[in-house]
Amino acid sequence: MSLLKVTGLGKSFGGVKAVDGIDFELHAGELLALIGPNGAGKSTTFNMVNGQLQANSGSILLDGVELVGLQPREIWRLGVGRTFQIAETFASLTVVENVQMALLSADRKLFSFWRKAADYKRTQALDLLDKVGMAEQADRPCSVLAYGDVKRVELAIAMANAPKLLLMDEPTAGMAPKERNELMALTKKLVVERNMAVLFTEHSMDVVFAYADRMIVLARGRLIAQGRPEEIRAHPKVQEVYFGS
Ligand code: ADP
Ligand code: MG
Repeated sequence: MSLLKVTGLGKSFGGVKAVDGIDFELHAGELLALIGPNGAGKSTTFNMVNGQLQANSGSILLDGVELVGLQPREIWRLGVGRTFQIAETFASLTVVENVQMALLSADRKLFSFWRKAADYKRTQALDLLDKVGMAEQADRPCSVLAYGDVKRVELAIAMANAPKLLLMDEPTAGMAPKERNELMALTKKLVVERNMAVLFTEHSMDVVFAYADRMIVLARGRLIAQGRPEEIRAHPKVQEVYFGS
């Protein structure tokens, strides 16, 4: 059975069909890229899966459980994680404190107490930071980190809830090619180690073709192609959308 099964998913804003009845599946251990031109409906699709937007139609099953109609928090509890940008308020926290916050929150503890219990979850947080290659920088404030390192910390935070499915909307935006490749290689390693699934959007076709196991292509809210990278590269509809030929 697939981990995620999306059927007839749709969302309109006023008269605009941002997502117009799409179907796709995602399996454990798989990196699925969602690509398409600006305005294709990628972010809208993401936000329906994580519950920030309510679908107008269709179904999103995670391990057979319907996500449509659930609150973001409930969806997160069921095992759908997402990378959040480290907000300014958290930039003054150290690297390890940021991950401790995420662990506390995943463990149903009140995080108003977290400062008092400064060592709480520290070992587990360091363990997650080690997985993303950031253990050595654990006690530095996030505000002083290089951009690529911030992205690693964001990934460690997302892993705190041990998600079955991780959603990443443009994870490598603003990164240099070397950092991009490092982040995607790390993501791929985590996917394999934890047998989780990742759904990500990405502008760089180099990154998509190098790291995605499968791809789905949206254009104007419709799914126009899906398949392995080499199939997508040769797909006439994709050529048309991307190269106007
Ligand atoms: P992508 O992420 O692929 O660039 P989006 O999902 O953000 O595309 O947007 C798809 C379409 O839906 C676009 O036409 C966009 O203008 C429209 N749209 C997205 N969000 C909203 C919103 N909150 N209100 C109105 N229109 C929206
Ligand atoms: Mg978007």
